[in-house]
This record gives sequence, C-alpha cells and structure tokens, in this order.
Amino acid sequence: MVYFVGAGSGAVDLITVRGARLLGKADVVIYAGSLVNPDLLTYTKEDCVIHNSAKMTLEEVIEVIKEAEALGKTTVRLHTGDPSIYGAVREQFDELAKLGIEYEVCPGVSSFCGAAASLKAEYTLPDVSQTVIISRAAGRTPVPERESIQALAAHQATMILFLSASLSEKLQADLLAGGYPGKTPVAVVYKATWPEERVFHCRVETLHKTMTEKGINKTALIIVGNCLGDEYGRSLLYHPGFSTEYREATE
Ligand code: SAH
Repeated sequence: MVYFVGAGSGAVDLITVRGARLLGKADVVIYAGSLVNPDLLTYTKEDCVIHNSAKMTLEEVIEVIKEAEALGKTTVRLHTGDPSIYGAVREQFDELAKLGIEYEVCPGVSSFCGAAASLKAEYTLPDVSQTVIISRAAGRTPVPERESIQALAAHQATMILFLSASLSEKLQADLLAGGYPGKTPVAVVYKATWPEERVFHCRVETLHKTMTEKGINKTALIIVGNCLGDEYGRSLLYHPGFSTEYREATE
C-alpha cells in the first residue's frame, strides 16, 4: 500500500494525526527533501528506509515504490503542504494505477493556510474579496497564457503566489499592469510555520525592492490583496439582524 501524505507547511506538529500515524507504520518513506521539514522523519520507525526525492526522478520514485510493493511493504510518499497544490502527484498516481498498485491520499496543511495563520489573516473578507486565486509566475515551468498574472490581477481578488519568489521584478510589473493599485498590500511569508519563518509587509509597488533587500528568493509565498488591509465589512453570518438555519435574527 502507498500513502501520499501532506507533511504540512513546516512545523512538525502541523502534520495531521492520520499523516503522523501513517509515517509511524511506514516501512519506506520517500520525502520531498527540498521542502519537507526533516524533523518529521522522527515519526518513522527505527528500521524505516528513507529516500530523499529531491535527488530522484519520477522513474526512480516509482521504482522504489514498486520494489517495496513486491515485498508487501507500506510506503509513504511525503509531500510538502498539501499534495494537491504543485505536488506533481498526478503523474505518480497514474504510474501506480498502470502498475495496479493501490494508493491513498492524506491531506496536509498547505503553506498558504500556514501563512494565513502566521499573518492572522482572513483571505475572504466581506466587501473586500470572496475569491482566492492560487497561482504562480511563469518561469521555467510555463503557465497557460489565459492564466497570466496580468489576466488574474484584473480581478483584484486575494492572490497567493507560489514558486515565484525569484521572479518578483516581472511579478510586480504584471500585478500593476493587470490592475492592482500600487498601494495594494502585500505580505511575503518565508518558510511559514518553520522555526526560521520571516514575514515582510510591503505594497505591490515595493514588492521587488522588498524581496531584493531582504534576500528572499525561495520558499516564500507572496500574498496580494486588500484582505491584508484594515477595511472590511462585518459578516452577515454572525450579524444580529440576519437569520440563519440555526439562529433567528434579534433585531
Ligand atoms: N504542496 C505545497 C506547495 C509545493 S510548491 C503546499 O501545499 O504548500 C513549493 C512552493 O510552495 C515554494 O516555492 C513556496 O512558494 C511554497 N511553500 C511551500 N512551503 C512553504 C512555506 N512553509 N512557507 C512559504 N512558502 C512555502
């Protein structure tokens, strides 16, 4: 059996209870060494065989899983954050399906949720934005033209940019060209929930300068939008004048 497990955003106690239990019973663990906190490996059994996928190809990962399966072993494939976000999991699922190997997925706390906690932010504020756009700047990995930063920026929704820390100059230009006013608040969260986490607040017009000055060019999220500002509407859900399925309005 193979379990794809979300490791969470960094802090070792942000893995789910299920994920930690699966790590505890794994005979083989393949972890994404570039981003998964290695301290998570302390949840494994003493005789667990550990592979770092940062140094492996997809073919090598599948080979390790195949060999473990042949011996009836349990494999955990440990991905950073939640596997569904830039996890390159689909290609693994499909290879395993072709080989008739069963697998399950255990979700994790994505770094964008970890970052929200660090920022004490709510991404979906009434009267500000009810939409969260998760995307990335185009780099060596292309992004479909219809999803360009400029096109997405036109919505002025809350935007969370993964994998873009080294591309801040173009990113800033595209955010502005797309329609975010230069004063729109931005937060850069480096290694959210790790012990070495750092948070920087700036504006769209000062994004590149801030990232260059602070020397942040990887393992960071760039969060853009007025949800980071001070103005918002009150939620209807908890408003005394609003009836819900559970509560009658009192005014
Ligand atoms: N599946 C992961 C994302 C993997 S893509 C998730 O759900 O979070 C790798 C990118 O995620 C990094 O380049 C960075 O932009 C972001 N990232 C991952 N962990 C992070 C963290 N703890 N803090 C800030 N950004 C992080």
